[in-house]
Amino acid sequence: MLNKKSVDDINVKGKRVLVRCDFNVPLQDGKITDDTRIVEALPTIKKLINDGGKVILCSHMGKPKGVPKPELSLAPVAARLSELLGKEVVFAKDDNVVGENAKAAVAAMKEGDVVLLENTRFREEETKNIDTFSEELASLCDVFVNDAFGTAHRAHCSNVGVTKFVDTAVVGYLMQKEIEFLGNAVNNPKRPFVAILGGSKVSSKISVINNLLDKVDKLLIGGGMAYTFMKAMGEEVGNSLLEEDYLDYAKDMIKKAEEKGVQLLLPVDTVVAKEFSNDSEFKTVKRGEIEAGWQGLDIGEETRKLFADAVKDAKTVVWNGPMGVFEMPNFAKGTFAVAQALAEIDAITIIGGGDSAAAVNQLGFKDKMTHISTGGGASLEFLEGKELPGVAAANDK
Ligand code: AMP
Repeated sequence: MLNKKSVDDINVKGKRVLVRCDFNVPLQDGKITDDTRIVEALPTIKKLINDGGKVILCSHMGKPKGVPKPELSLAPVAARLSELLGKEVVFAKDDNVVGENAKAAVAAMKEGDVVLLENTRFREEETKNIDTFSEELASLCDVFVNDAFGTAHRAHCSNVGVTKFVDTAVVGYLMQKEIEFLGNAVNNPKRPFVAILGGSKVSSKISVINNLLDKVDKLLIGGGMAYTFMKAMGEEVGNSLLEEDYLDYAKDMIKKAEEKGVQLLLPVDTVVAKEFSNDSEFKTVKRGEIEAGWQGLDIGEETRKLFADAVKDAKTVVWNGPMGVFEMPNFAKGTFAVAQALAEIDAITIIGGGDSAAAVNQLGFKDKMTHISTGGGASLEFLEGKELPGVAAANDK
């Protein structure tokens, strides 16, 4: 278990506290279309306000690539945050992020005040983790808090570089929750422990599969990546997604599962279509019977039942990646069936961000899951067993 200092371990009264949040919210015509990420940041922010800190918030938004872009300004976030907190959040409009405006706004702060800095990616140093910008950020504060799990797998100035120049660097509640849930699930799971992996490519989840095979009792594989495994077992997969370069790897993983006594479940039937389109003709075929000219776009009905049964007695389930092309209604049933199965079981259910989280939310099952990670990429790297730079940079307890 990771043992990092959190906001509960420090005294911030009268101190300037820089908090790295994840305010990378979707915007349409300057309006926030989903404020979940802002809402999730509130517990840490409120705690610091209540403790008498001078709370300076920062975040990236989108990919301005080091150039100030008005449409990617955090100004709308400041407005929404003011409403949610019921107090003024001063927006430090400043193309340099830590320019004269930001410095003046921070200098004028009193205990409990909140200032939001401009999009950290307006500075080109940010994603390159160059010291100049890290040092400027650090000069604004006495204490640093990282509460942005979504970027924890990246070493940028505002989440990692800055910690070089401050004595106290801790994690916020959101980070703490992610570390605890993901960390416990992977390193100290209640058994049986089942992982469900899907999504398009084996290549992007190699290390996850490899690491999880050391930990789980069952591994269920669906989505586009299942076809490389089927092909590796000598079955025809027609025009389905296939990564020829990873056939040997798939074979190794099948062997590893056998050696470790892990039950590896692949789809027993597949929904195949002529074209990669929701309007395409489609049908369900048994495993090994995908004809030339057809491609697998979802797990079939038998597999949905098989996977639902496989998690019934589980005590911990980790799920990452859709079971099919769930963006197309005709091929979304497998992904929704898995979401439903997880909603119905009495187990610790961890959803690894991204598409699986979207499916769970779309179905209204959000409250039925133990934890939905706020970081797709970061949660994947966690499942790979990697130490995330954003976590590593915080002070140990
Ligand atoms: P990933 O980002 O690797 O988790 O993959 C997510 C994407 O995988 C989604 O956009 C799905 O549409 C896609 N996907 C899932 N199953 C399939 C499949 N059988 N064929 C093609 N794409 C798929």
